[in-house]
Amino acid sequence: MIRDEKNLIGSNGKKIKTLRLCILMLFVSGCVTDVNVTEKAKRGVTFQFDKLSDDPWKMPIADLHDHDNYAEINGAKVGVFWAGLGTKRGGRDNWLVIKNRLGARRIAWSGQHEFNRLFFSGGVERMLDAEEPLLKTLYNESESDLKSGLIVGIGEIFVNNKNSSSVNFRRKAPLNAPVFKKFFDLVSKYDGFLSFHMEGDQDSLEQLSELLLSNRKGRILLNHCGVAMSVVQLRRLFEAHSNVFCELSYRYPPMNKKSEREIFNLQGIHQNWRDLIESYADRFLIGTDASSKSSFIEAIQVVRAGLLSNLKPETARKIAWENAAHLFILRE
Ligand SMILES: [Zn+2]
Repeated sequence: MIRDEKNLIGSNGKKIKTLRLCILMLFVSGCVTDVNVTEKAKRGVTFQFDKLSDDPWKMPIADLHDHDNYAEINGAKVGVFWAGLGTKRGGRDNWLVIKNRLGARRIAWSGQHEFNRLFFSGGVERMLDAEEPLLKTLYNESESDLKSGLIVGIGEIFVNNKNSSSVNFRRKAPLNAPVFKKFFDLVSKYDGFLSFHMEGDQDSLEQLSELLLSNRKGRILLNHCGVAMSVVQLRRLFEAHSNVFCELSYRYPPMNKKSEREIFNLQGIHQNWRDLIESYADRFLIGTDASSKSSFIEAIQVVRAGLLSNLKPETARKIAWENAAHLFILRE
């Protein structure tokens, strides 16, 4: 965690005190959202958030990195109304059950399991073999699921996680491999996305640019905003390509513990990141990548206190949910 508060926006003592009080109150009274939301959720009543609110504690949030579906049970407590990404284990059967249960509240993605399964059985080479029956099935099923609006894209696909995963999970795959182009062209036909877990090596960035340029209708969501990509690297990508977006999971506490990855924390946003987010407000989305109920709840508190509270209200609304609504949710 970065402790140099001079570089943080919003680090005045009074505000932090208030926010800390609010966080404490959250546990006691549910101050983030309407206290009836949990009850309503139990009865299956549609959540009623104040979508037009400029208040960072009242606007709904879309979480674009919720593999384990923490939002279903815990979302109402913290105002996460929509959430999703690929499931870690199991293929279509697994995510479809959740999607059928939650409808528009689940932002479903296919393919994470299939690419990983091939990697574990035959390394990068097998994962990139477009002729693999598993990938052919994935392609065909994804096409009909994109068409019907069940899924918004394919991912999280791990293409470069050399320094950001457990050792047996690490890999670096060339993004100019034909298999990625094939799936990129597929999602482009249905206004869909590929989502990549990709570290910012120069060659990976060049291959990503090549892919983005190859089809301007195809779009890519960078998970974790490029893991440890710098402001400069992301700014270059955003400037060059209108079809790349990123979600902020693992770039803030409690999940992230490495200062070089941190974009914001409970006290505020690092100045250079704040400038980039304000300049490219249409490109950023929220993600949690939580590993437990408590880390999910804590992550959303940090998002509201550290990020949303320190952006222009219209930027905060975009990042909290409007971008997601525009890109993923209002498609159905
Ligand atoms: Zn990831």
